[in-house]
Amino acid sequence: MSIVAIAKGENTINATRKAIELLGGIQNFVRKGQTVFLKPDLSTPIGIPASTDPLIIGTIAKMCFDVGAKKVIVGDNPFGGISSKNLFKFTGLDEYLNSIGVTLINLEKEHFEPIKVSESKVLTEVHLPKSVLSSDVFISIPTIRTDFLSDVALSIKNLHGLLPDEQYFLLYKSGIHEGLTDILKAIKPDLIIMDSFIGGEGQGPFNLSGIETKFNLAGTDPIAIDSIAASIMGFDPSQIKHIKLAQDLNLGNGDPKKISLVGDDPNYFNFKKAQLLPSDSELLSIHQGKCCSGCLASFRIFSDLMDTFLGKELKGYGGFTCLLGENPEVSSYKRNIIIFGDCAIISTKNYRFNTNKRIRRAYRIQEISGCPPINLNIFEKIAINFKDKIPAFEFINEIIKRWTKGRKLLDPRHPQIGA
Ligand code: SF4
Repeated sequence: MSIVAIAKGENTINATRKAIELLGGIQNFVRKGQTVFLKPDLSTPIGIPASTDPLIIGTIAKMCFDVGAKKVIVGDNPFGGISSKNLFKFTGLDEYLNSIGVTLINLEKEHFEPIKVSESKVLTEVHLPKSVLSSDVFISIPTIRTDFLSDVALSIKNLHGLLPDEQYFLLYKSGIHEGLTDILKAIKPDLIIMDSFIGGEGQGPFNLSGIETKFNLAGTDPIAIDSIAASIMGFDPSQIKHIKLAQDLNLGNGDPKKISLVGDDPNYFNFKKAQLLPSDSELLSIHQGKCCSGCLASFRIFSDLMDTFLGKELKGYGGFTCLLGENPEVSSYKRNIIIFGDCAIISTKNYRFNTNKRIRRAYRIQEISGCPPINLNIFEKIAINFKDKIPAFEFINEIIKRWTKGRKLLDPRHPQIGA
């Protein structure tokens, strides 16, 4: 039987403490002199509800120190080449967590060790950070939100951020759900505290709206806690492929009859789903050939970034025709042509805009290479091409500022319920 604790509270700090108490207290998991690794979801610098609330990270860190932990480390690998250092600085996490005595680690710069996975589906070896493997206790602090690629981003998806970039992006292409079960075979958290106080619905992680649940969850079985969380969101857990796969592999209990809920009764919601396939907008006209999930996922990030964050600046550029996958069909072009991913670059070599010099001169043609292209390359390409609007040097920092809307995560104006 797996236990999942549900704790309501006036605020997220109360709910976090109560959820851990329902499992017997933090002393059940952390002992004097131990090193504890906390893995929040900091994959993007957008803030609540896309990222774990810093107050929950701080509360858990303090609880660990209170029972005598020697060292508490916090780390994540933000996706797509955004450096943790930048993210910590811009979100204010460094100042806040340093003041508690936490050690912040830039996971993307870590030494990774290969862990062999038997009967793997995508990753025969999962590369995991040494600082996580050498810690005595591994605590996962995921969010409860929707995701454009994995449907939900809960405790199993939170493990994705432990991977180095090359493995992280390999899952985009080779199967996110299957890859997540490989990671779960390689590492399982000792404790999961799910930041569900404000959930995220809709186009996660970039354009989420907050739903206030006023409770947090805790447990030790990732499949049990994810199944309960998915049900709370209004989804059938057996339809979420990575939860179902993990259950079929006996990596935990997804069967409600084998899950004991302790604490408060949950409320149930109806979270809006995220979409993987981008649709045409005023700015972007999308032409998709034979395309795998790798380019679709990377392109979704690109299109969300272009439309949502740079839409205003790019309005005067005459629109973008975006080609992705093998042999995309296209009859007319907007002023700018973006050829996205190696399949599109190779298969459009004989297209008229590539072979006719006059046409080629008339359009601004941009190739974004990669299989799939990774976010940092995409950002750099945009920076180089639109540096007259946005200074290239400051581009990444500029994006992070825009994502956080210039606010620190600890700013009282966060979270934006229903924003
Ligand atoms: S370049 Fe081709 S194979 Fe590679 S991720 Fe894109 S569509 Fe898939």
